[in-house]
Amino acid sequence: MSTKLCFNIKIVDFFSFYDIIFSMKRLYYKYGVMGSSKSAQALMTAFNYRQRGYNVALIKPSLDTREACEIIHSRIGLSSPCTTFAIDTDLVKLCSQIPDAQVIIVDEAQFCTSEQIDQLKELTFSDLTVLCYGLKTNFKGLLFEGSKRLFEIAESIQEIKSICRCGAKATMNARLKNNLVSIDGDEIDIGGDEKYEGMCYACWKKYQTTPLSDLEPNKKTP
Ligand SMILES: [Zn+2]
Repeated sequence: MSTKLCFNIKIVDFFSFYDIIFSMKRLYYKYGVMGSSKSAQALMTAFNYRQRGYNVALIKPSLDTREACEIIHSRIGLSSPCTTFAIDTDLVKLCSQIPDAQVIIVDEAQFCTSEQIDQLKELTFSDLTVLCYGLKTNFKGLLFEGSKRLFEIAESIQEIKSICRCGAKATMNARLKNNLVSIDGDEIDIGGDEKYEGMCYACWKKYQTTPLSDLEPNKKTP
């Protein structure tokens, strides 16, 4: 075995060891724009943990009324039952009532209050791994309360990347109204693809004054 190969194996062993010892008891935040497969990734992560014998609790704020109550549904067709909670729910108490939960997966975590994110962090001190999936900013480009607190206290922050209609990286959540990008209105206005679109900053600015033409393809021309 070459020295280089031995070295690589030692590196791999070290990181496997690190993962085993330190990957538990962590608060993770995985964020992306609308349509970036956040819910699909949340469900796939739940599947992955369950395959390895972990008890997983799927939860989400009841604020999101797009889907039937107590279901997380992704655009690519995956879905799973979940437990919903209100903005005044104590998540430490809620999760302690879920039998044998080892991993907590939170969808639409941006709608949590700052206090609830602190409660999720507290859960990591009780041998629980907490993975949050959600948006970073609202349709005005401002942090949601829940995402702001996650950026402040999560140990692991990862972006789920997706692309804009122009082919650039999408970073903004555009709210569509009358064929334009709107920056007026309440922060929370639940909707799907008919109301929101992930865009790059340049397109988000451009389409505030330039109508989105029906003739313009919603994708980059190859
Ligand atoms: Zn763009």
